[in-house]
Amino acid sequence: MQPTSGFSGSLFVVAAPSGAGKSTLVNALLAQEPGIKLSISTTTRAPRPGEVDGREYHFTTSEDFLARTEREEFLEWAEVHGNYYGTSRLMVEKEMKTGTDILLEIDWQGARQVKKQFPDAAGIFILPPSIAALEERLHKRGTDEPQIITRRLLAAGGEIAHAPEFEYVIINEEFNVALSEMRSIVQATRSRFAQQAARNASLFAQLGIHAQQS
Ligand code: 5GP
Repeated sequence: MQPTSGFSGSLFVVAAPSGAGKSTLVNALLAQEPGIKLSISTTTRAPRPGEVDGREYHFTTSEDFLARTEREEFLEWAEVHGNYYGTSRLMVEKEMKTGTDILLEIDWQGARQVKKQFPDAAGIFILPPSIAALEERLHKRGTDEPQIITRRLLAAGGEIAHAPEFEYVIINEEFNVALSEMRSIVQATRSRFAQQAARNASLFAQLGIHAQQS
C-alpha cells in the first residue's frame, strides 16, 4: 500500500465505547511516545467541569460548526450523542506533512470517513474485558441514574458493533498490557514499508530501493 502522497507521518485512529478506558490509555501512550500528537477536535457540546477550551476540545456553536462543514474544514465529522464533533483537516495534514504522527480519538462514523481518505491509517478499537466491567466503569462515571446508565450501555453496544471495521483490537483488562500492545501497534505501523520510505526518502534513493508497482 502506498502512503497518501506527501505525508510522511502516520495516522492512528482510536475508537472505543465509553467506559473502555480509551482516554487513560491514549494519554499514557502520548506520554511515552513524544512523536505522536493528539488532534484536538471541535465540538458543539458544552464543556464539562475542568475542561479547558483548546485543551480537551475547541468548543463552538452549532451555527459555526455547520458553517465550517460547508467550507469543508473537517477531515471528518459526525453527530455523537446529540452533539457535533469534527477533526481539523488543516491541522492533521500540516503535521503529517512534516512527519509528525497524529492520533485521532473519534467514533466509528469518523473512523470510516478517515479510512476512505487515508487507507493506510491504523485503526485501533479498544474493548472492555467484559460487559460487567463496562457496566461497572459506567456506574463509576458521575451520576448513577439507571436510565442514564442504560442509555450509555446501549450507546456502547452501538459503538462495539463497529469493532470489525478496525484493524487492531485491544482488550483493556490489564492497563499495562493494553498500553504495551498500543505501543507495539505504533512501532509496527511506523515500520511499514510505505511509512519508512516516506520518512527516509534519501536513504532509500541512495540504496536504490523503489516501491513495487502494485
Ligand atoms: P465526549 O463528549 O465524551 O468527549 O466524546 C463523545 C464521543 O465523541 C466519543 O466517542 C469520542 O470518541 C467522539 N469524538 C470526539 N471527537 C470526535 C471527532 O472529532 N470526530 C468524531 N467523529 N467523533 C469524535
